[in-house]
Amino acid sequence: MHLLSLFFPKRCVGCGRLGLYFCDVCKTSIEPIQSSETICPTCGKSAMGGKTHPKCKTNTSLDGLISFFHYRGVIKQAIKSIKYRYVTDVVQELIKLCVYNNGTIKQCNHHVIIPIPLHSSRLKFRGFNQAEKLGEQLSTTLHMQFRTDVLKRTRKTTPQVEMRHRIDRLQNMKHVFSCNNITMRQWNYQTIILFDDVWTTGATLRSACSELKKSGVKEVWGMTIAR
Ligand SMILES: [Zn+2]
Ligand SMILES: [Zn+2]
Repeated sequence: MHLLSLFFPKRCVGCGRLGLYFCDVCKTSIEPIQSSETICPTCGKSAMGGKTHPKCKTNTSLDGLISFFHYRGVIKQAIKSIKYRYVTDVVQELIKLCVYNNGTIKQCNHHVIIPIPLHSSRLKFRGFNQAEKLGEQLSTTLHMQFRTDVLKRTRKTTPQVEMRHRIDRLQNMKHVFSCNNITMRQWNYQTIILFDDVWTTGATLRSACSELKKSGVKEVWGMTIAR
């Protein structure tokens, strides 16, 4: 028995049952996003393969969106629990679920995963960035490159959930991120996968994508655990 499990016994993040982080009962209630449910990251309407509709494309828009699960049940609880208490094993198991539940996701070593950064003050307060932990694990599992030195969060924002109006949310996300252009000139970036834990309004990923594209990146896809 692992020494740590004496003090922090493994409990299901969904129902609290002892033994596993994702018990067999909760696992069966997980709802993967089906291929018929993928959406365009610009308009939010149905789109094949999560590819942005040609008519929704701009110079700074995302090229597509991949989300693994519906943000409900045990998945929602797992993401929340990682946000408040970082447990390596939960991160690993959640990423395993993502990869094994999705037949279309391929190992791709010329893609780069970049997690959505937290503002330095929030990082200090929380101690870690959950998008970074999850993204890093995903990149290891899929043999993709992983970079945290490209994108920076330069402005602190009000959490999106606290903002009721769409206009507020759009204003809130303006000029939030900046790119390290020196770093970007030094590496030959191809497709960038912008990673976040949850897609809600998409404002965060859209804003970060727009900065990357203004810096010359040709293709940017969004990827989230849940939606
Ligand atoms: Zn359970
Ligand atoms: Zn669209």
